[in-house]
Amino acid sequence: MSKRQIAMVMDLNKCLGCQTCTVACKRLWTRRDGMAHMLWNTVNTQPGTGTPHDWESMGGGFRDERAQPGHRPSVGEFGKAWTFNHEEVAFGGNPDIPLRAEGGAPGKGANWDEDVGGGEYPNSHYFYLPRICNHCTHPACLAACPRKAIDKREADGIVLIDEDRCRGYRFCQEACPYKKIYYNDVEGVSQKCIFCFPRIDAGVTTACSRQCPGRVRFVGFLDDPNGPIYKLVTQYRIALPLHAEHGTQPNVYYVPPLSPPRIDADGNPTEEPRIPNEYLVSLFGPRVVEVLEKIKSERARVANGETSEMLDLLISRKWLDMFGPFTKHPREIAESPIRFYKNGVRT
Ligand code: SF4
Ligand code: SF4
Ligand code: SF4
Repeated sequence: MSKRQIAMVMDLNKCLGCQTCTVACKRLWTRRDGMAHMLWNTVNTQPGTGTPHDWESMGGGFRDERAQPGHRPSVGEFGKAWTFNHEEVAFGGNPDIPLRAEGGAPGKGANWDEDVGGGEYPNSHYFYLPRICNHCTHPACLAACPRKAIDKREADGIVLIDEDRCRGYRFCQEACPYKKIYYNDVEGVSQKCIFCFPRIDAGVTTACSRQCPGRVRFVGFLDDPNGPIYKLVTQYRIALPLHAEHGTQPNVYYVPPLSPPRIDADGNPTEEPRIPNEYLVSLFGPRVVEVLEKIKSERARVANGETSEMLDLLISRKWLDMFGPFTKHPREIAESPIRFYKNGVRT
């Protein structure tokens, strides 16, 4: 157990599916050899198969307090890195040649189901689900590693893989129920989201949260009563973990998505939401219905001229307030280029 736990809340009512978060993470952390296929952050269209493809059926997590081996996702299931006709566009001499993906697995990777969604017209629906490593309170990856190469930092609960100790057995990949660990076959080690710990150590929020144009991601400590995480998770209780049934106590929480009314056979709106409650319950558990009702009733109050700290927080009128104590500008760490890490130490 860590002394404190850092966490992230993502408001799914504001996610645009733009993948800016994915690119921010990619640019910063996964450009070394063997990392081409890695997207530590992904944003998938739901209902959908997710990344890696069909991850929800791959097993892992805890049963009877023991980490369970599940399926080990392949590079193909994550989605091979795309390649583009850069040479042709930049040096081919024909300005009319468009940029196009021509290798790897175009259409896969960051979002296998781009805007497919579920339901049938006029009740078709979709929403976006961004995912990173959950920096779980009880990480199945850590429990499954025979090399004790995975550590949970005492000060903030960030879960890190020590690349010096890792021998690439990949039991962590099998045990993680969220399938958020990748394998680097050049370096022979497992790698995953590091919650941007060098930035966090310098008081700067994560790249995926700071770059998000939708103001989707809140960052802070679970026990900070003045921070956004405590307010959304504990005080207002409107942020829920994803697939909590796996028993790892994930520390990424989601404000579930509202949706327009379902249309009946005569073309009239009903009282039912277009995204079926059963589907949201399958992701976020039974409290999701109560949470959606709470957000709706708060919206109605504001529409009647009342004020709501909860809605102001969700709207994120004050952008920097989203990041708890991690409000410093990234230039604060610019003098110390952060590219590599070993043993949880910035180099
Ligand atoms: Fe480990 Fe997976 Fe939890 Fe991340 S999400 S801490 S990789 S079990
Ligand atoms: Fe990547 Fe940092 Fe976001 Fe993790 S917290 S997904 S390392 S940008
Ligand atoms: Fe874009 Fe933010 Fe959604 Fe990522 S979380 S896809 S950056 S809106």
